[in-house]
Amino acid sequence: MKTKIFCSVCEVSFVYKDSLAVEDSVICPVCGARLQIIKLDPEVEAIRFPQKPEDEILERIENYARIKGYVFNENKQEVVDGMLEKNNKYGDFYCPCRFDNIKENVCPCRETRMNQGRKEGRCL
Ligand SMILES: [Zn+2]
Repeated sequence: MKTKIFCSVCEVSFVYKDSLAVEDSVICPVCGARLQIIKLDPEVEAIRFPQKPEDEILERIENYARIKGYVFNENKQEVVDGMLEKNNKYGDFYCPCRFDNIKENVCPCRETRMNQGRKEGRCL
């Protein structure tokens, strides 16, 4: 069975090939976010998996790094702390290196998802 799932974090749909049930969780292959299935009919609906902010962003960046084959440098915790601070202030994990707190700068930011990191060897 092939199912199309929309990721509300990176705003991209992806195809999921295994069977699904309500309350299952899946990892977005584009951004690494964990999503929880809340509805199957008539269309699959998924939300961010409910978890503590620190757990959510750590899991997301670790999933993303694994998917892309990236490694963290020594600034990992500093960047995570910056994202947690932005999440507290602005309601989402905006990149702490970017000025604008807009959807495309939610980690992993759009530029990174568009493989900019491959060219520059880092996420920003
Ligand atoms: Zn996603």
